[in-house]
Amino acid sequence: MTYRIAIAGLHMECATFLPHVTHRDVFEEGTVRGRDVLERFRGSNTVMGGFLTAIRSAGAEVVPILHSDGGAAGMADQAAVAGYRQEIVEGLAKLRGEIDGLLLHLHGAMVTQDELDPDAMTLNGVRSAVGQELPIMVALDYHANLDAASIAGATAVFGYRFSPHIDMGATGERAAQCLLRTLAGEIRPAMAISRPGLILPSIFSATDLTPLRHLVAEARQSEERQDYQDISLFAGFAYADVPNCGASVIAVVDGETAEAEALASDLSNKIAAERAALSAPVPVYSLEEGIERAFEIARTASRPVVILEHADRANDSTYGLRALLPLSDRARIAVPFIWDPVAATVAKAAGEGAEVSLALGGHSAPLAGGPVSVVAKVHAVKPDFAYRGTGQMRAGSEVRVGDTVLLDVDGVEISVTSLSQSAIDFDPFLQFGLNPADFDIVLLRSKTHFRAAWEDFAAEIIIVDTPDYGPADILRLPYRYARP
Ligand SMILES: [Zn+2]
Repeated sequence: MTYRIAIAGLHMECATFLPHVTHRDVFEEGTVRGRDVLERFRGSNTVMGGFLTAIRSAGAEVVPILHSDGGAAGMADQAAVAGYRQEIVEGLAKLRGEIDGLLLHLHGAMVTQDELDPDAMTLNGVRSAVGQELPIMVALDYHANLDAASIAGATAVFGYRFSPHIDMGATGERAAQCLLRTLAGEIRPAMAISRPGLILPSIFSATDLTPLRHLVAEARQSEERQDYQDISLFAGFAYADVPNCGASVIAVVDGETAEAEALASDLSNKIAAERAALSAPVPVYSLEEGIERAFEIARTASRPVVILEHADRANDSTYGLRALLPLSDRARIAVPFIWDPVAATVAKAAGEGAEVSLALGGHSAPLAGGPVSVVAKVHAVKPDFAYRGTGQMRAGSEVRVGDTVLLDVDGVEISVTSLSQSAIDFDPFLQFGLNPADFDIVLLRSKTHFRAAWEDFAAEIIIVDTPDYGPADILRLPYRYARP
């Protein structure tokens, strides 16, 4: 028989310490409905792309409902989330009795003004709409904050295995395969969650850092010993202040819940035992020390040095830019993807070759460092720009940056986007005819995703902490809900 499988998604990562709420207009930019879901995601390294690949390979029929993505920013607006949730729930209610299963894509670190675990509310709403019997497999981000209540509505839950998230598509496929095998009667999934009691700053959640790399590998070895077993290690998201903030492990087995419980708590205990090493896997420098070190290495290096202003959660912080501009005669410096729609509009209106005065960046919030006054030469203008990603993580995905300009400020190459996007791979250079190898120092704001492109390419990665919303020293943050 041909299975009919519904797919839907509601996705956002919320850094609750940021002062601004993400409203419906932002979600709507990242929303597709019905058959448009297929067009948007087919062939891309995304959860939805993975769902589609697996469903098509199995010869099953896909019923796309809606996918909405608010990106990664401050808290999500309650009314916006409730609206998309209702669309998904109503879409499913109409299909009751006509579908065999549901694949759902959530992030796991969404927060609204009224809900500390809106992903759980969405899952529970969906469960009510489809009934207790229908299998619901959920794919979540590796940075999900989870507890037993978060996943109660799901049949089985799967998270990305890596950060950088190079396996988003593969995670969608894992969830879909579990659903398809369940429908075929090959397996009966049972699931359990365990929490080691650990909150990791994003910058330390990269899965190629030791000891996280070994803990992830441990889960793979366990899986290889069984016909069906799937273990997800979630790093959690430190910048969402919620009661379930922190790392967790979810095990899915073909068998009894007790087996899943034993597996999840075994890995969880191993994570807890590595607490000290996980909390300081790489050095973090002050901005001054980091810049000094970067110029020192760049003097003799044949490849660019990456300075990581990782505490920026809005792609517009100016601490690094302000410190680097006076040093522009000492190195070739690139600052890709600063988010500033006003500066982009002004430079676009002035046109290529023009010189403009700008108050650049730092507008998003009080801790973003404030705008930097610059006189910029407009190198290039890309109106309403979007491209298909060519890097490993964003492969095939549409990346929308809006009106985008390439500026020369005292010899520093700066690209300014109208829509907020992190520079994680080489596209912010390649899409503008630039070669990343031509620069001595590159200022990035990514946390772990840049490593897929830059880890092997950069002469060195230098992490700097700034007085911003996502610091490496999370004890600086005014938590109210997270457990001590
Ligand atoms: Zn993530």
